[in-house]
Amino acid sequence: MEDCIFCKIIAGEIPSARVHEDETAIVFLDINQASKGHLLIVPRQHTADFHELEGDAAAHMGRLALEWAGVAMRAVESEGYNLLLNNRKVAGQEVMHAHLHIIPRWTGDGYRMTPIPTRIADGAELQETAALIRGQR
Ligand code: AMP
Repeated sequence: MEDCIFCKIIAGEIPSARVHEDETAIVFLDINQASKGHLLIVPRQHTADFHELEGDAAAHMGRLALEWAGVAMRAVESEGYNLLLNNRKVAGQEVMHAHLHIIPRWTGDGYRMTPIPTRIADGAELQETAALIRGQR
């Protein structure tokens, strides 16, 4: 897609530090390293929303995460990692082409990726919300 930075990287019009590419997706280092080895898994298919990806693209991102999270962890000798997917601006998405971050983590690295609870919901409310979501499927 025109004006999409990730489409330009996929097309080779903008350089990237690639670690993997196949017919469905590419994996390269994020230019702003949240930590050493911070990778992006980017499907070739252009869609802003992850949940709008068609065919095998999303499943393939999962397979690549399975493989490259472990590889990255070994390569930079991290103690763990976070998988992060920002979807839409409200959730922090800056590049409107679906992608998944792999962020290696170390003790005391100061990076916070844990969801912050806003309140504790009671059981009845949780059941009601679960029913709401099931009903939307
Ligand atoms: P998000 O906030 O989830 O949309 O993340 C987009 C990510 O793309 C950011 O972490 C950026 O640092 C990264 N990014 C933007 N431009 C480039 C680029 N040319 N090469 C590599 N990563 C990029």
